[in-house]
Amino acid sequence: MAALEVVDLPVAVRNRLAALRRVPLTRCRVSSDIANVEELEFHWLVGVLEGEGTFLRGAPSNPGAPIVRVSMTDHDVVEHVAKLFDRGVVRLRRRKPHHKLPYATTIKGAPAVQLMYAVKPFLSKTRELQIDLAISSWQRRRAPRGRSRTADSLSTLVQTRTESQEARDRAWLAGLLEGEGSFLANRGVLSSYPVIKVEMCEREIIERAASVLDTRVWVVPPRTEEWRPTYVAQIAGHRAAEWMRALRPYMGLRRTAAIDVALSAYHPVRLIAPPLVCVVEGCGRSHRARGLCNTHYMSWSRDRAKGRVPRITPLR
Ligand SMILES: [Zn+2]
Repeated sequence: MAALEVVDLPVAVRNRLAALRRVPLTRCRVSSDIANVEELEFHWLVGVLEGEGTFLRGAPSNPGAPIVRVSMTDHDVVEHVAKLFDRGVVRLRRRKPHHKLPYATTIKGAPAVQLMYAVKPFLSKTRELQIDLAISSWQRRRAPRGRSRTADSLSTLVQTRTESQEARDRAWLAGLLEGEGSFLANRGVLSSYPVIKVEMCEREIIERAASVLDTRVWVVPPRTEEWRPTYVAQIAGHRAAEWMRALRPYMGLRRTAAIDVALSAYHPVRLIAPPLVCVVEGCGRSHRARGLCNTHYMSWSRDRAKGRVPRITPLR
């Protein structure tokens, strides 16, 4: 019977239905296996570069070869970036004896320029300017040497948009937090709750992070006159726990461990049943709201009203 119904349809409609059935199937197979993973990795890389990327004009000895470098103390994260650059990882010298060992991966010349063109539309104005400066020193060589497979494929990848904006934002945020983020377990007397915090001097980047996390931006005044203010986006409690679970698969070893500590210490039942006393360490006054006593609640709410980073993080 079904076959008869199809035959009864006009030929034009039948062809369109057949086409509709064929196309999504083939598209799905291609994109879900390879392109999607790479698209999210691309946005993860954009996030890493936004936080930890250095875009430089060529060295004095080689002015025509601009440089993109990522330097961090997390070896596994630098290794992941190096894989995307199709380059190696170099161990750098400590700047001070007590510092952790930094690692770096560097891409130079034509592949670096390709990479910069690919990521530029997704980066903040600050980074865009750095890229323009770095590229301005670029001189095209007769024959491109030291090609990078990744840089080659990035330009075409930017055209591919199969993932949702939400998924791309999440990958970007993971990359940014890998450099500039903190996953914390805020410990009180009665409970511990997770906090995600990202702090930078570039307001535009923190504004984007805050909008992805659906929170506001706090301004931290500079400690001395020569310093610049910093900007903070922060979430705590249940929403921080949800975000930690969503970001965990993207994160490197150190931050995955921090997430696990924060989540394992978090028993959200305390959020639903408010504590009897204030959660601030050593306070012990009776509970008023959001896990805080009257004094600490007022302090938190004053900080918030004045646009300062609250010194106290409430339960909700
Ligand atoms: Zn208190």
